[in-house]
Amino acid sequence: MHDPDCIFCKIVRGEIPADVVYEDDDVLAFKDISPQAKIHTLIIPKTHIPTLNALQEEHDALAGKLLRAAAKVAKIHGVEEDGYRTVINTNADAGQVVFHVHVHVMGGQPLRKMG
Ligand code: 5GP
Ligand code: ZN
Repeated sequence: MHDPDCIFCKIVRGEIPADVVYEDDDVLAFKDISPQAKIHTLIIPKTHIPTLNALQEEHDALAGKLLRAAAKVAKIHGVEEDGYRTVINTNADAGQVVFHVHVHVMGGQPLRKMG
């Protein structure tokens, strides 16, 4: 499923360019356009799912692939041992701005502790 107006669906369709880090049949990983750390890559499902709240049981395998892709991306960037942060923002209080679910992978430097 694709949302014609969704910016990340446009990246999946190749209508907007992206610096792709990793891709398989189900997920796409590309560098964040406005990086918040030396390494900042986003992993998205190729199908349009707006937020984590919309994940259904039918997406269980896909959710696992997203997390495993995050670890693959960390390895591609060479930060799997030094460490990295994975974040999924959901709705307003978390500051979600793109409503196509995505996992942030940030690293390449010490990150400020959260919470
Ligand atoms: P959110 O706040 O929704 O969790 O994060 C959305 C992220 O997408 C932001 O970090 C933002 O910089 C990134 N982003 C927004 N538009 C684009 C785009 O067109 N290309 C890329 N590569 N990243 C984008
Ligand atoms: Zn989308």
